[in-house]
Amino acid sequence: MAALWCECGERLSNTMTPNEIEYLVYSDKEWIDIVENEDAYTSPLLLPYPNHTAWLCRKCKKIHILGFDPMRRVALYELAEIKADLSLGGSLNMAVFWCECGERLSNSQNPDIEYRIYSDEEWIDIVENEEKYTSPLLIPFPKHNAWLCPKCKRIHIWETGSMERVALYERAEMKPDLSENDT
Ligand SMILES: [Zn+2]
Ligand SMILES: [Zn+2]
Repeated sequence: MAALWCECGERLSNTMTPNEIEYLVYSDKEWIDIVENEDAYTSPLLLPYPNHTAWLCRKCKKIHILGFDPMRRVALYELAEIKADLSLGGSLNMAVFWCECGERLSNSQNPDIEYRIYSDEEWIDIVENEEKYTSPLLIPFPKHNAWLCPKCKRIHIWETGSMERVALYERAEMKPDLSENDT
């Protein structure tokens, strides 16, 4: 349990359950590791914690990316305007599109760009129904996933199953870390 002050002055805390702040962020690479060791994960409670979480400030819409060991902010993002939608056809499992920076992104060629984003509410629902998820292969896709452009570090947020981006985020400058660690 922890809290931090957003750059906008809002205090963010994950002590409420469920909370509207915290998202678990599994990279495609981390998830592939989990699936390859599915025998070890007969319950979602046994899954390793992801390397990153994202905290969304509901007031200014900034996203704080947090890493662990020790828990600290590693990046700050602010909402940006989506320019023309440059996605091509295909399904989200094998899609390609051009980032605003001009980089061509394809999740079938680069497993490092795609991330699963589970809201606290979604994850609690999965954990509370753990008897249904005796294999990580049975765990439902999250409502949203994110693509990280390796060149400009923009984050593109997609609604699962849709080819439409719902949000675009750009890196912002972090002020000194104002996090409070209770544990
Ligand atoms: Zn804020
Ligand atoms: Zn880019």
